[in-house]
Amino acid sequence: MAGEPQADCLFCKIVSGEVPATVVRETDTTVAFRDINPQAPTHVLVIPKAHYPDAASLAAADPRATADVLREAGSVAAEEKLDETGYRVVFNTGSGAGQTVFHAHAHVLGGRGLNWPPG
Ligand code: AMP
Ligand code: ZN
Repeated sequence: MAGEPQADCLFCKIVSGEVPATVVRETDTTVAFRDINPQAPTHVLVIPKAHYPDAASLAAADPRATADVLREAGSVAAEEKLDETGYRVVFNTGSGAGQTVFHAHAHVLGGRGLNWPPG
């Protein structure tokens, strides 16, 4: 069923606690944890607890959880003191855009200059 945990999904295992992560924030619908391979001084992933393969399918199925992910991204940025210097929220979608984990997630990146357009 849509949104149900997937046995072979790394981020579902982080939600369940089967795989450890450095969790910085948690709500009833989301978890935020530090990226294991950070691309900036602050690099946090915000995920819905429900499993959807990408941001668009999450948004189509669960607008509330989508809003929760975006709100939590902002709260992470504020906690990490990125809201004055600026930060970027990225949803890589599809392998051609660099998506490697097919459980929707927002990258929150900041703490260094961020070029535009991104690579
Ligand atoms: P993406 O390439 O957009 O799908 O992002 C997946 C992200 O998950 C990458 O930035 C990885 O570094 C990160 N990642 C992979 N495994 C883990 C893990 N066990 N804990 C935290 N972050 C992870
Ligand atoms: Zn999952």
